[in-house]
Amino acid sequence: MKKYNILIAIMLSAIQGMTQEGARQSFHFPDVNGYQVLKADLHTHSVFSDGMVWPSLRVEEAWREGLDIIAITEHIEYRPNKADVNGDHNRSFAIAKEQADKAGILVIPGSEITRKMPPGHFNALFITDANKLEVPDWKEAFREARRQGAFIFWNHPGWKAQQPDSARWMPEHQMLFDSGYMEGIEIANYEEWYPSALRWALNRNLTLLGNSDIHGAIYQQYEVHKGKHRPITLIFAKNSTLTEIHEALKQRRTAVLFDGMVIGREEWLTPMIKSTIEVNPYPSASTESRITMVLENKSDLDVMLYPTPQSIAKGVIYPVAIPARSKVLLSLRLKDDEMKAMPSHTVQMTVKDWYTKENTTLTMDLTFKR
Ligand SMILES: [Zn+2]
Ligand SMILES: [Zn+2]
Repeated sequence: MKKYNILIAIMLSAIQGMTQEGARQSFHFPDVNGYQVLKADLHTHSVFSDGMVWPSLRVEEAWREGLDIIAITEHIEYRPNKADVNGDHNRSFAIAKEQADKAGILVIPGSEITRKMPPGHFNALFITDANKLEVPDWKEAFREARRQGAFIFWNHPGWKAQQPDSARWMPEHQMLFDSGYMEGIEIANYEEWYPSALRWALNRNLTLLGNSDIHGAIYQQYEVHKGKHRPITLIFAKNSTLTEIHEALKQRRTAVLFDGMVIGREEWLTPMIKSTIEVNPYPSASTESRITMVLENKSDLDVMLYPTPQSIAKGVIYPVAIPARSKVLLSLRLKDDEMKAMPSHTVQMTVKDWYTKENTTLTMDLTFKR
């Protein structure tokens, strides 16, 4: 026994100390239609173009924020740090990938084809050699990206520096769309979101994307330590591999998280709210004239429900707050005998800040049953 104590003392004296070095935020959504909900930022810069940080820091920031995927998308045509940072167009991805492999998140190789309007800036993801995109003719850059099997999307279409009057869909964009080169569009970038881009995306069946386009350190732009997030593309994928993420993007299986809003197609937000808010009977609090349900928020996002005008007319007037990872009880009081005899009652609610179109919030049915 004494020998054992001495051994522990020797072992302890070999340790210099222990420090906590931060944490990874919990940022979870339950699976939707059997797909994982992956959190991605598919537009970031480092010192290898005009960013202010080293590529490995991009990975570290993303890991801490709870993201699963980032893309490093340096400008091909704009490299103001080139005299000091002289790696080629593939170097920043290689550095980020080494860090990401250690951290257990994914980095997608990409580049920002950075041309004046039209056509403007586009990200090409899943490329195999960014150096080959450095060509004089912008059309040839798109052709080369496509030869490499890229997924290509239009960046910040409402960016005032390139379209000061209003976001416009120009003949060059139509050409890129018709030829199948443009498969997605950023409806949110940095601090802006673009309703016109959302309309274009829904009308033309483009993949919806929301990304940070971060150049500085993430904490300079977003209060991540307070649980706030950069714009994020939610990807509904079979698993977290490059192949499945590419497939999900091609199949338009995304939604966008921007400044507390969830923006996406109804076909994805409806199953997403169903898996986020689980509704079950709570018989112990139910009586003949009252049905009580327990609503469980299984995500890390606060959810607020408001009665629709139709529900207000029926006497349901109060909103329901379901904080992240919590359960709330909700009772429906029934007036007459006819109502009490019915096996179930459905109340329609709108989900605050979940948008399926520019001015349309998602609605969900809350079914009360014993
Ligand atoms: Zn850009
Ligand atoms: Zn950019």
